[in-house]
Amino acid sequence: MPKVEIKDTTNPYESMLARFDVAAKIIGLDEATHNVMKVPSKQVTVSLPIYMDDGSTKIFEGYRIVHSTILGPSKGGIRYSTLVDIDEVKALAAWMTWKCAIADIPYGGAKGGITCDPHKMSVGELERLTRAYTVAMSDVFGENRDIPAPDMNTGPREMAWIVDTYSKIKREYIPGVVTGKPLHLGGSLGRTEATGRGVMVAANEAMKKLKMNPKKTKAAVQGFGNVGSFAARFFEDMGIKVVAISDVTGGYYNPKGIDIKKAIDHVQTNKKHLGGLKGAERITNEELLELNVDLLAPCAMENQITHKNVHKIMAKLIVEGANGPITSDADKVLQDKGIIVIPDILANGGGVTVSYYEWVQNRAGYYWSLEEVIKRADESMIKAFANCWDTATKHHQSMRIGAYIFAMNKVANAIKSRGHF
Ligand code: NAD
Repeated sequence: MPKVEIKDTTNPYESMLARFDVAAKIIGLDEATHNVMKVPSKQVTVSLPIYMDDGSTKIFEGYRIVHSTILGPSKGGIRYSTLVDIDEVKALAAWMTWKCAIADIPYGGAKGGITCDPHKMSVGELERLTRAYTVAMSDVFGENRDIPAPDMNTGPREMAWIVDTYSKIKREYIPGVVTGKPLHLGGSLGRTEATGRGVMVAANEAMKKLKMNPKKTKAAVQGFGNVGSFAARFFEDMGIKVVAISDVTGGYYNPKGIDIKKAIDHVQTNKKHLGGLKGAERITNEELLELNVDLLAPCAMENQITHKNVHKIMAKLIVEGANGPITSDADKVLQDKGIIVIPDILANGGGVTVSYYEWVQNRAGYYWSLEEVIKRADESMIKAFANCWDTATKHHQSMRIGAYIFAMNKVANAIKSRGHF
């Protein structure tokens, strides 16, 4: 088994490359294919001048990075955040390539983002920004080319603006150009909760391997947005006791368990955050990660477990709902401590899987029942988990490196078969 130094980094793209390089060495990837897979195939940066409500004009920077279209049209969400920068989007785009390969769906990987603070913008400003971004990216997007979806701070509302703007440009209704749409615009049943559900299914598969009984399992979930709130709810449904949850307002801890359905109701009626949640002690997001729990699900953002706090992590099993919550240098420490990590590119693939089902339904013009969506998505996650587990076992590597090896082998074979000129 080759020993490879892992770089110390919190730059998400460097962190992605660190794992990529380890997996490339193990599979003996040739230099040409290695170089093709390493770099994004397309990088587009746009400046978007937007009329603000106060009469001023503000310029926003937007990105769309297509990492790969080797296995099919590129797929990946659009993120609105002050922290969006090109390296973050590049990493997220590459992760999408590996994620789609692992989920066994015919897509490449992409990601988009706009550097902005959506919480300080009005609905009108957000709509103008989203429509301007869609116009600027209209030659990048396409139902057979590049298909966006929601990510942090974007959801069905933004996807509706995108499908409307894009369809107006193309003079025909093209619902398959974007997924995560509202149901009445061709969205799929089960898409909203798909990522959180997939996190639960991945956790359940891991718990079976580790012989952990859900009824005796305590969990902490960081982030209570789309992914975290549904993951916590599905954990609760499995009989897991969720003792801590958190969001930007901080952490909430109750050793007897938090009532997740009540917490979701609280968020829905409380400006979309957990602030003021009753029946729980206030802790910080850092303290949540360090709790003595069996299962930890980071579902907020990147770089939450780093060389600074990794020594304090006590969970037996970590399931990455968020993209990139653990840095590459922290991976090694967790592995040495015997903590099993189910990596993002496997664990949060339930969302893109149901996005794929949405796209299939849009193109067929025929819509499936919720039961059908759930059955297919659960089976897909179980199969993907087994593939990554078996690959990791075969190569005596962590689940993360196993997942990279599985995905990279698939993409490398396709690159070699298609060739280039
Ligand atoms: P979201 O915007 O719905 O929710 C994000 C949550 O994280 C919110 O509760 C927010 O308050 C919280 N948060 C933000 N900053 C925080 C901090 N510093 N500490 C603790 N909590 C913080 O976003 P989401 O769609 O749930 O995405 C969360 C993560 O999951 C991201 O990494 C995203 O890329 C990833 N992901 C999302 C999907 C999806 O389908 N939505 C799919 C795959 C991966």
